Amino acid sequence: SFLLVAIDGGAASGKSSTSRALSERFNFLHVDTGSYYRAITAELLRRGLRVDQVDEVKAALPSITLGTRVEGRAARMEIGGRLAPEAEIRGPEVTAAVSHFAAIPEVRTALLTYQRGQADVARSHGFRGLIMEGRDIGSIIFPNADLRLFLHADVEARAKRRELEGRADAVAERDRMDASRKTAPLVLASGAIDIDSTYLNLEQVVEKIAGLITE
Ligand code: C5P
Repeated sequence: SFLLVAIDGGAASGKSSTSRALSERFNFLHVDTGSYYRAITAELLRRGLRVDQVDEVKAALPSITLGTRVEGRAARMEIGGRLAPEAEIRGPEVTAAVSHFAAIPEVRTALLTYQRGQADVARSHGFRGLIMEGRDIGSIIFPNADLRLFLHADVEARAKRRELEGRADAVAERDRMDASRKTAPLVLASGAIDIDSTYLNLEQVVEKIAGLITE
């Protein structure tokens, strides 16, 4: 039967590498919802909007049309039929702005049904399940997921990861913003399984979760 796995955690906590590896192993569709918030952020910036222009952002949302492209086991968001380049959505401008736009309740609402609909995308493509990662997947998007996980790693270990990747990212600052916003803050959802990856490598985290999936 179809399996739904939700993984939440802070910035650079290893969610993406872990989810990607699990999607390969179990033939799940992998949905990185952070990339969705990033794609919307890139679009808003492209339209000349700034993070303090909340009313203008709200007004722009209805004209942003979302689609999905499945590439291998990854789902990617199209806006107006176009995929934003990875270099753009992972770049410094988007990374600095994304938590601000993600704190606007209307931005989150615009993505809610779309994210839930990814389960149907996974089913219609014949995947065995869906693994979705983000900040509010186990708490808001799929509170009834078969498995809800929360990935922890100490903030220095995470900042180090980004540094080694050569990416400018104020990890602690993004976590602070994501955890303190009013709508769908980053929290350990009740009943979610907490995994501390500070002293584990990717393979160990993947093994641990794989064990929970096959249990
Ligand atoms: O996962 P990633 O670090 O790429 O996410 C970028 C940003 O998108 C986060 O810092 C957060 O502000 C926002 N986000 C969110 N809810 C999600 C996923 C990401 O608010 N489910």
